[in-house]
Amino acid sequence: MYAKVIIDISVESLDRPFTYHIPDRLATGCHPGTRVTVPFGKSNRLIQGYILEITPDTNITGVQIKDITDIVVEQHQTQGRLIELAAFIKEQYGSTMNTALKTVLPIKKAYKPKEKKTIKTACSRDVLMDAYSQAVRKKQVAKVRLLKELLEEEVLDHSLVTGKLGVSSATLSGLERSGIIKIISENYFRNPVVISKSNEQDIELNDTQLGILNEFKEDLDNDIHKTYLLHGITGSGKTVTYISLIKEVVKRKRQVVVLIPEIALTYQTLKRFYHYFGERVSVLNSSLSAGEKYDQCERAKKGEIDVIIGPRSALFTPFPDIGLIVIDEEHENSYKSESMPRYHAREVAKKLAGLHNASVVLGSATPSIESYHKAMQGEYRLWTMDKRATGAELSKTRIVDMREELKEGNKSIFSNALKQGIRDRLDKNEQVMLFLNRRGYAGFVSCRSCGVVMRCPHCDVSLSEHLSTGKLVCHYCGYEEKRHKICPKCGSKYLLGFKAGTEQIEEEVKKLFPDANTSRLDADTTRQKGSLEKILEDFSEKKTNVLIGTQMIVKGHDFPDVTLVGIVAADMSLALNDYRAGERTFQLITQACGRAGRGDKSGETIIQTYQPDNYAIVCSAAQDYKAFYEEEILYRQLAGYPPACDILAVMVTSPDKNLAGKTCEAMADYIIKKEPEAAVIGPGKAGIGKINDIYRFVFYIKSSDSKLLVRCKDELEEGINPLSNIQVFFDFNPMNPV
Ligand code: ADP
Ligand code: ZN
Ligand code: ZN
Repeated sequence: MYAKVIIDISVESLDRPFTYHIPDRLATGCHPGTRVTVPFGKSNRLIQGYILEITPDTNITGVQIKDITDIVVEQHQTQGRLIELAAFIKEQYGSTMNTALKTVLPIKKAYKPKEKKTIKTACSRDVLMDAYSQAVRKKQVAKVRLLKELLEEEVLDHSLVTGKLGVSSATLSGLERSGIIKIISENYFRNPVVISKSNEQDIELNDTQLGILNEFKEDLDNDIHKTYLLHGITGSGKTVTYISLIKEVVKRKRQVVVLIPEIALTYQTLKRFYHYFGERVSVLNSSLSAGEKYDQCERAKKGEIDVIIGPRSALFTPFPDIGLIVIDEEHENSYKSESMPRYHAREVAKKLAGLHNASVVLGSATPSIESYHKAMQGEYRLWTMDKRATGAELSKTRIVDMREELKEGNKSIFSNALKQGIRDRLDKNEQVMLFLNRRGYAGFVSCRSCGVVMRCPHCDVSLSEHLSTGKLVCHYCGYEEKRHKICPKCGSKYLLGFKAGTEQIEEEVKKLFPDANTSRLDADTTRQKGSLEKILEDFSEKKTNVLIGTQMIVKGHDFPDVTLVGIVAADMSLALNDYRAGERTFQLITQACGRAGRGDKSGETIIQTYQPDNYAIVCSAAQDYKAFYEEEILYRQLAGYPPACDILAVMVTSPDKNLAGKTCEAMADYIIKKEPEAAVIGPGKAGIGKINDIYRFVFYIKSSDSKLLVRCKDELEEGINPLSNIQVFFDFNPMNPV
């Protein structure tokens, strides 16, 4: 057996690995991530490195391959475990080891820690007085200012002294040499959590929460580490429960990773954690600078923090001894990486937990079908919380059949019920949220005479019309063009936007309710930094009373005066050509319902749909997850979709259309011949056949045996002759149709 050993992973560009032979006596102890000593260079000086990969043979010829000298037993295996995790990611999701390493060891550049300099008196008060009088006599004004200040305060900020007091560094070093002062410089790590004071109350756990905590404690005491699935309706007290579990783990001197979707990681959430863990909690998210991120990793290594909160990449925080990984809103799409390697945080978290002997808690009001299925099969321990912790009622829901509305002559995008509802809330000085699962103003623009649809010249998609800018925009590549006055094909004046976007809803509300103060929250209005917070703040201070938005508004925010939620087009997400469409619809509606009536006033949700009998809509309106799951799992089993079956999507892209198509076909044929057990679907043009002038072809391999899929991926990777203008991507159980 041979091992690829990397010598230095601290440098910015990853080192080339070197191949060593594994002597028999070390065979059992060597695996990816093992720290070893190896002879290096001509002189064979012994140095340390990490094993990246193990291979049965090597294609190196002509040079003698040296033996690994020994295995190094490390006290903290932080780095080694992360490398082992990278090896898992590479193996499972298909990428190079290099890419996988860059994913788990993201910050390689050492940022200089911030320095804090202070000036301190280094002599007795008498000596200081003498120096002061002397300076006065000699009319050394700057020195006088400094010494006078030091007579009052023993320690001064360096920047204050050189800035406001105008003392030169020459003067300072002179004083230091004569033993009057001492200049002290300390490194400190930036701490991004700036929370002044929290007025959060300590909460006494209710019986359900206590039951969960006690079971967890017992498992910890018996060194049992499981994956738990906490299924709790919105407001049932999941966050409070997580905190109680985390406290137990921290008490045992182990660290905790808390994953929260970036968009739900609000100041409020942070404050709650800060109340319990103070300076020992930190965050990692995209708003931190590279230096701040680096410092959080350093703080984690040094044992300065116990709890890290962040999106999926927080998994790679270099903690020495992780005891628990919490994944809140575990069903969220954002836990799946959309770039190579396309890993799922849930799967990687379980692997990481295995390496640390840690527990995993997955939490959601609408668990993914995959996770709930595992819980049903006994692989996960299921915890259920089905009541709101504050005792508040769940909002009432009402399904409105939009086909009936149309029959009755209502052509508006709002049903009569929703119109009345909005009027009523405005009159009562309460607030309304209107939710649409689509961004922008119009889906597409077409000509009413010749039917041509305005399309992006670089992508295989239609352009979207944006009211505010008056432009047609491609959501895939960013291409923009001016809205046409006449049809580019036939010259007709009658161009029609398919009006159904958030902008359209806002317009309609303004027209119907001139007294409403509306605001809109979608990808377009939140592009600028800070605009999201501003919109939410205005709404929370009731400067606005109707908030219109996409997915973004249904996540986590707590507005006690919202008593009506309108889901304008509930079936929009059902129309997607995607096996998760039902699941997604159920999640969105359930979350939207969770927004209404969180305070002491009761809430109502109106669900507008053209498919009132669809089970995703019926079950979510009834707030019945279990019923939905039973229907959905049946469908997945019948149709052979995850979790009943695993799917590997293989995508081939190239600027050369012909080449992409031919290669994709050849790869599919290869698998059909080599792995007769696997079901191959396709190949064909991908759902979006072209993005940014790159053609996309895809085929799928389905199997109930996920190992077979990993093998197919390996075989394809080996069989591919990498042509420079072709790229191949693998995606396990893709979240979005490709
Ligand atoms: P979730 O995370 O499930 O949405 P939270 O943990 O945020 O729920 O709790 C929802 C609300 O209920 C919060 O205001 C919280 O302070 C309150 N709460 C949670 N647990 C309790 C409890 N045991 N007693 C009283 N209030 C609670
Ligand atoms: Zn036309
Ligand atoms: Zn485009």
